[in-house]
Amino acid sequence: MAARGGLIVAIDGPVGAGKSTAARLLAARLGYRHIDTGAMYRALALKARYLGVDWGDGPALRALLERMDLAFVPGPAGQRLTVDGEDWTEAIRHPEVDRGASFVSVHAAVREAMVARQRALGAGGGVVMDGRDIGTQVFPDADVKFYLDASPEERGRRRHGEARARGEQATLEAVQVEVRNRDARDMGRAAGPLRAAADAVRLDSTGLSPEAVVEGMLAVVRQRQRGR
Ligand code: C5P
Repeated sequence: MAARGGLIVAIDGPVGAGKSTAARLLAARLGYRHIDTGAMYRALALKARYLGVDWGDGPALRALLERMDLAFVPGPAGQRLTVDGEDWTEAIRHPEVDRGASFVSVHAAVREAMVARQRALGAGGGVVMDGRDIGTQVFPDADVKFYLDASPEERGRRRHGEARARGEQATLEAVQVEVRNRDARDMGRAAGPLRAAADAVRLDSTGLSPEAVVEGMLAVVRQRQRGR
């Protein structure tokens, strides 16, 4: 895809693979925007919880999403997520929202509307977008696609470390079970399941620092930029 304002870079992978961190750092290195699509599903789950909309009710969630204003707003300390004008950057990082996002994202009606928004957000190019279905559904013609993975043990450990840093008391075992459940829902659903696109560059972040992962990605992106 010959995007006008730069390339479209897609990063997909399971929970805890390091996608969002890598996407944020890569976007900064390239001077691109970062779109964290997981944050969009999280925002819908949280809004539904506030308004009493059932996470199992696809049509009601779709209607709710169509009324929601979701925006990524650049700021001095990093990008913020606003929902109907309120800053929800921290509010969506909560274990209940982890679960909620995983439930609301199974509905085809919800995914269709999310994918349309994500395409609109990335259409001009110059974007690094991370999620589960970016290289397969949102931008099947993305200029560069990565599928980032890590060992299940390391992914569980990372999520546990993040939870502890937020002051949550969860045990490593409980976090590992939750990670497995979310991955199973993401890979097993009919609409937009998590899988690597056939033309994705596969990377494994086990034992690597975020900076090392980004260096590897940057090498691939630079090569594509030269080939354009
Ligand atoms: O990436 P993150 O863990 O924030 O995503 C939260 C949830 O949103 C995932 O577990 C997944 O179920 C869903 N999601 C999705 N498709 C995307 C991004 C996230 O289904 N493109």
